[in-house]
Amino acid sequence: MTQNLFHTWLIFAALLFTTAVPQRALAQKGQKKPFTVVIDPGHGGIDPGAPGKRTKEKFVNMNVSKALGDMIKNEFPEVKVIYTRTTDVKIPLARRAAIANEAKADLFISIHSNASKSRKARGCETFTLGSGSSAEAKAAAMYENEVIRLEDNFEETYMGFDPKSSESYIIFELIRNHDMEKSIALAEAVQKGMVNSTKLHNRGVSSAGFLVLHKTVMPSILVEVGFISNPTEEKYIASKNGQKALAKGIFNGFASYYRNHKKSIKSQAGTTVAEKKAAEEKPSTAGKQKAATANKNSGKPVFKVQILTAGNKLKENDSRLKGVKASYYKENGMYKYTYGESCDYEFISKKRKEISAKFKEAFIVAFIDGKKVNTKEAIEIYKKQK
Ligand SMILES: [Zn+2]
Repeated sequence: MTQNLFHTWLIFAALLFTTAVPQRALAQKGQKKPFTVVIDPGHGGIDPGAPGKRTKEKFVNMNVSKALGDMIKNEFPEVKVIYTRTTDVKIPLARRAAIANEAKADLFISIHSNASKSRKARGCETFTLGSGSSAEAKAAAMYENEVIRLEDNFEETYMGFDPKSSESYIIFELIRNHDMEKSIALAEAVQKGMVNSTKLHNRGVSSAGFLVLHKTVMPSILVEVGFISNPTEEKYIASKNGQKALAKGIFNGFASYYRNHKKSIKSQAGTTVAEKKAAEEKPSTAGKQKAATANKNSGKPVFKVQILTAGNKLKENDSRLKGVKASYYKENGMYKYTYGESCDYEFISKKRKEISAKFKEAFIVAFIDGKKVNTKEAIEIYKKQK
């Protein structure tokens, strides 16, 4: 009896051991890289940025950046915050981007203050990378890109990029689609946050050819917190309260983006399991659904290949379209160009492969009754209706 009990215990202990070890190993294997955000306080060292009467741009950028990083660390301790600089030193633009790329960061946020010849120019603004949505946006990018002239060998590093020549800016016309969607979402959230937390004039979200954003390989934005050349605004952005309110606004934007990001990861994992189960258990429901939707075409997903995002409407013969006959839809103030259109996902999938020779980053988008929907979900609906 006792021996039997001992025996049982042994088996139990052995089981405990064999199951516990691999589970722990799995947990370690499943440990993901933390969500990483790189905060880039613009300028520094011999590069003061835009000069004000009271302060210099580099100091405003640093203070807002530090406050922002502190807020993120406080509220989301699981998020890794990396700064491109924490002291008053000059960092080349390419190096700032490289820090983010090497860290495999999930987001890149560059903090700057704006300046203009007109002392009346005012307001906060958030930029994504693009060919320039307005003359003012282009000027802002040119101004910020000028700093590369302070770098040794800048011609070599930036392969002949001349920050003052508009011809140089052609490289920004081809935008990486995937990052762009996320960059715009972040930019809009951050801009909304800043406008709500300060009383600054809302200059909105724009796109322009910022070199530092071009060199990063993750969703990235550049924030201009206000005009240092405007005396009233300089007073505000140089003040502790102003900087705190700006950081809070940018933080709120980040927080909303980050929460959405977490939600989408969760729901992606959730739907696949739930849907697999549903498909296994109730094959008859899928059949009924098929019959119901066959009667009417509405409610059916329509797939298209997105090839390009532009800040403004393109002419039919625009070189960026590379001779492709494309349609567009508008989203978040951007013109999104698509190629092909079909309810047949496999057909569009082939179209995407074809067009990827010309547009490497082409991807599939989906619409139901003219409204853009999540592509993954649309594919699931398509599979069920097939
Ligand atoms: Zn700047």
